[in-house]
Amino acid sequence: MNYKLWIDGKWEDTRGGSVMSIEDPTTGKEIAEVVDASRADVDRAVQAAKRAFYDGRWSKKSPGDRSKLIWKLADLLEANAESLAKVESDNTGKPYQYVSLGGDIPFAVDNLRFFAGAARDTHGSHAGEFMTGYTSIYRREPVGVVGQIAPWNYPLMMAAWKLGPALAAGCTVILKPAPGTPLTTLMFAELIKEAGIPDGVVNVISGGNDAGQAIVEHPDVRMVSLTGSTATGKKIMKTAADTLKRVHLELGGKAPIIVFDDADPELVATKASLAATLNTGQDCTAATRLYVEKGRAKEMQEAVVEAMKNIKVGLPFDDGVQMGPLISRVQRERVSGYVERAKEKGAKVLTGGGIPSAFDQGYYYEPTVIADVQQDWEIVQNEVFGPVVTVQEFEDEKDALTKGNDVLYGLAASVFTRDIGRAMRISADLEFGTVWINDHLPLASETPHGGFKQSGFGKDLSAEAIGDYQITKHVMIAQA
Ligand code: NAD
Repeated sequence: MNYKLWIDGKWEDTRGGSVMSIEDPTTGKEIAEVVDASRADVDRAVQAAKRAFYDGRWSKKSPGDRSKLIWKLADLLEANAESLAKVESDNTGKPYQYVSLGGDIPFAVDNLRFFAGAARDTHGSHAGEFMTGYTSIYRREPVGVVGQIAPWNYPLMMAAWKLGPALAAGCTVILKPAPGTPLTTLMFAELIKEAGIPDGVVNVISGGNDAGQAIVEHPDVRMVSLTGSTATGKKIMKTAADTLKRVHLELGGKAPIIVFDDADPELVATKASLAATLNTGQDCTAATRLYVEKGRAKEMQEAVVEAMKNIKVGLPFDDGVQMGPLISRVQRERVSGYVERAKEKGAKVLTGGGIPSAFDQGYYYEPTVIADVQQDWEIVQNEVFGPVVTVQEFEDEKDALTKGNDVLYGLAASVFTRDIGRAMRISADLEFGTVWINDHLPLASETPHGGFKQSGFGKDLSAEAIGDYQITKHVMIAQA
């Protein structure tokens, strides 16, 4: 199948762009061709979004009318869940039942419904009389034309997470999916029209990093929201400085999972193994660094290793499959590179560490646990983005906190303990945007999600996300 660009409510041919091949990571074979948008294509999309913003076809609709259309979009996403989930699994290798149909799409639907509701509560306030003879009003206005740039790990879900708050705020959008995984976002574009959201409000441009760069450079784009790597976040922030546009950055993570002696080993093993392997570990909040208190370290470690061995790896459409392949050859080389270099330095592989023997094609990698690593090694410090967990011991609460915080990232962390006081103390001092106690991974549409430190800033999910797409205007009225 060949896809085009979605600009101003219709499919458009590229002007000067090229073609990108899209592959199935379970086989490495091509499944589609898409456009790699040119700078001229990006400009056309921005002009469409600009017209749609300034004529008020979206921003001046009543919150109730916007809400109805976002809700309709959620309904259409739900009605088309099976066909979208199939394409998502073809394009990413995600288990169809467990992740695409069972996780990503229901969460995207729920997210849009949340923002459909929240769209009705985005108003400013009558702020009062701060100078004699004057009344001040605070207006909460949409920021304007927004560029939204998505990653490949949850293509459709990230598109929905991004669009929900932007549409609720009244912005218009140019949405660029990641180069390798644009298919479901392009399909989603047609549902946006079917929902009745006016043409030009959402434009979907497939393309590579240069197309992303063109969005960030464009003077008519008022804000860029990226979900992607920290390296890309830094580049975008620098580029955005030239036009002084607002940036909203949901970046990488390196989540610790801190396990005290009083935790239940079975619970730890179940939660840690699922959180390390969901989406083949290609998750910004994946459990990647297991720190176990030294008293029961061996027992906890063995339980986790056993659970990792039991994760069912397979083809996306097979029954009971929990983990598919990595997204690409490059990604598998990256993951195995980290593991091999750690081994050379003396790390011990407790399970996994290679390509599963049952898969002679595609980009599979085994659920892997690695011990005898040191805190300053790259495998502990950097985002590996694969099903790989390192294990280290800690002495006490202070040591756990020091090691847990000792990375550049600050997206998510978890603590396993039955001691509520300790859970409260340590959650206050962990420098992460989300801290789970006795679990790892769950998020709800109501809960703000975003990073500390080099995991970025700004929130996805929750009513807070809408605020990121709004700007406050003060109107001052002389009463005389
Ligand atoms: P990436 O940074 O390589 O690419 C992300 C997007 O940015 C792509 O669409 C890409 O084309 C675009 N891009 C790249 N260079 C650009 C530039 N110079 N200007 C503009 N756009 C540019 O990330 P990825 O490999 O697709 O995704 C994985 C990363 O995303 C991981 O680091 C992961 O942790 C992160 N992530 C974060 C969250 C979160 O909520 N914090 C969620 C999912 C993924």
